Amino acid sequence: MENKEINLEANIQYLKGVGPKMAELLMKLNIITIKDLLEYYPRQYEDRTKLYHIDELIENENNLFMATVVKPVQSIRRGKLAILSTYVSDDTGVCKLTWFNQKYIKEKLKIGNKYVFFGKVINDNGKKAVETPMIYSLSELDKVQGLYPIYPLTAGITQNYLFKIMNIAYDNKPLVEEIFDDGFRKKYSLAEINFSMQNIHFPKTFHDVSEARRRLIFDELFLLQLALMTIKNSTLGKEKTTKFNSVDIKPFLDLLPFQLTNAQNRVIEDIKKDMYSSKIMNRLVQGDVGSGKTIVAAIAIYIAVKNGYQAALMAPTTILANQHFEELGQYFDKLGITVEIITSSTTKKRKQDIVSRLKSHEIDVIIGTHSLIEDDIEFNNIGLVITDEQHRFGVKQRMMLGNKGESVETIVMTATPIPRTLSIILYGDLDLSIIDEMPPDRKPVKTFVVSDNLEARVNEFIRKQVKEGRQVYIVCPLVEENETLELKSVQTLYEKYKNEVFQDLSVEFLHGKMKNRQKDEIMQRFKNNEVNILISTTVIEVGISVSNATVMVIENADRFGLAALHQLRGRVGRGAHESFCILKSNNRSLQSRQRLKIMESSNSGFEIAQKDLELRGPGDFFGIRQSGLPEFKLANLLTDVNVLKETQDAVKELLEEDRNLEHHIQLKKELFNQYGEQLTKRTT
Ligand code: ADP
Ligand code: MG
Repeated sequence: MENKEINLEANIQYLKGVGPKMAELLMKLNIITIKDLLEYYPRQYEDRTKLYHIDELIENENNLFMATVVKPVQSIRRGKLAILSTYVSDDTGVCKLTWFNQKYIKEKLKIGNKYVFFGKVINDNGKKAVETPMIYSLSELDKVQGLYPIYPLTAGITQNYLFKIMNIAYDNKPLVEEIFDDGFRKKYSLAEINFSMQNIHFPKTFHDVSEARRRLIFDELFLLQLALMTIKNSTLGKEKTTKFNSVDIKPFLDLLPFQLTNAQNRVIEDIKKDMYSSKIMNRLVQGDVGSGKTIVAAIAIYIAVKNGYQAALMAPTTILANQHFEELGQYFDKLGITVEIITSSTTKKRKQDIVSRLKSHEIDVIIGTHSLIEDDIEFNNIGLVITDEQHRFGVKQRMMLGNKGESVETIVMTATPIPRTLSIILYGDLDLSIIDEMPPDRKPVKTFVVSDNLEARVNEFIRKQVKEGRQVYIVCPLVEENETLELKSVQTLYEKYKNEVFQDLSVEFLHGKMKNRQKDEIMQRFKNNEVNILISTTVIEVGISVSNATVMVIENADRFGLAALHQLRGRVGRGAHESFCILKSNNRSLQSRQRLKIMESSNSGFEIAQKDLELRGPGDFFGIRQSGLPEFKLANLLTDVNVLKETQDAVKELLEEDRNLEHHIQLKKELFNQYGEQLTKRTT
């Protein structure tokens, strides 16, 4: 007999029982080809594993049973309703079955014949009865008995219809290519792919379901990891030409007014290990706001410079670049290390001078903004590049700075509190170190969510803090008043506070549209405590560190993501004084209140991110959608962490054996099928 193998790439309309009309509806479920249908997985299953006897039927549950029709089907009318009923029996008893308006039942059920029924058992005047049961022939029992798949639906598509066409597709014995060999599958306890595809739809037992799910989830996460690692290998397979000898960092540590935390020390060890190894460093340092990442960066820079290399530190804003320049400059000056800064407000003449001194290696360390990646910036001997607040930059910018040298060690730093599982994925091409400890004696910032009608009290509180010598940030979502949005703006609030509420205090404002020099000047005056209240947009979100500031007021707080709120809150609580964050919001929706409540109850960025993820789902999380992460069919980043970890190890092992996937042709094919476009995008 001819092997009527089904073409998986064929349009779904050519499957028997579909046709163009249904194909159009199926398109709404993203089912376009037959393969799409096979990969349209059930959301859950209905237990139809047990075949009951009539005397065992359980009231108020859906039961599957087999019985013989013993009475002709009766039909009576009640108004518009046609009620059809009959009796069936087996060795253990008799049961009444009822349907409404389904006249074809009369033709379908033949007296004396045995059928399989499935439906909800009810109590009919003390006797068991079943209303509107489904009817199957005995030959269909094999298909029906088991776990019945429940699919997500759309208008015009029913469970039964999907079940039917799924069966038709599987009757054609579709074969998916296996991407793993037997040894690999055995090692990772993975079911065979065609078994899994079949059993995700038509499992007989929950054990089958879990086998199938495990395999399919493994595949999804494995391919993602493989894609990320392939990128890593292609961009970083370069020979390491920099060479670092061990450096004594004590002279640097001696300058610090504090001891490093254990977490900082651990991360520094990770960095040293990378730098002294023969592999080029590509490390993400993640640490909550205020955990002390800057010093870690400074020590890496110190090691590079002591080895005769230049180092660059890139920050997303001029304000932050200036701050780093001041903080690190104060240490490096004492150690005879030359530091310079380049931002967009650096004058042309000054920049020319810096560019030439960089080229001649008169400058050891350069700090700056995006300006650092411009073409005219050339180094004599760059060995280390650090990007601060990496989430503000794209992968490309990070690589461009790295490309300024032959082989450059890279550290990227972020406070964006991404749960570990997700950072593995988002930054899967990086090694990860986490500063999971705060410097000692940090008091948590007290956080309150208030509505606008408490404004007078909030203002009183602000005044009290200022009288005690402290400083205050007020953050608004807008720069200027906007007719369509009823949101607080920096301009309006500034006028009001300066001219009415806080006439006697020094109030200033700051936003992204101002000239860099203006911004720097205001920031400098704030640092010098010449400004009591700074009204600003989120330009102050990242990195800013003024330890005398103790109050952060955020207007229309519901308009900000939790990550941003946490970052903003991190601007206070940086010194010895007790600090406060006041989240103003008039949004009474449940979701909004739930989200802001998370801010009240937690000071840990990681925890906040985790909860935000649970509330909103990964799709909305920190713009992951724009980051090129695929949407998974089955895998769930929250619950499948263990599998994710396994796939990471599995991918590493595989690539060690077969770096270019020469002996895994099918796997390679599938990888490019799924990630081809992104792989090429990210490797060029
Ligand atoms: P972030 O991780 O948010 O970039 P910073 O590097 O700006 O944090 O550090 C926040 C503040 O904590 C700075 O004032 C810094 O000097 C201080 N700091 C860093 N490490 C320690 C430590 N181990 N003990 C005490 N203070 C520290
Ligand atoms: Mg920082």
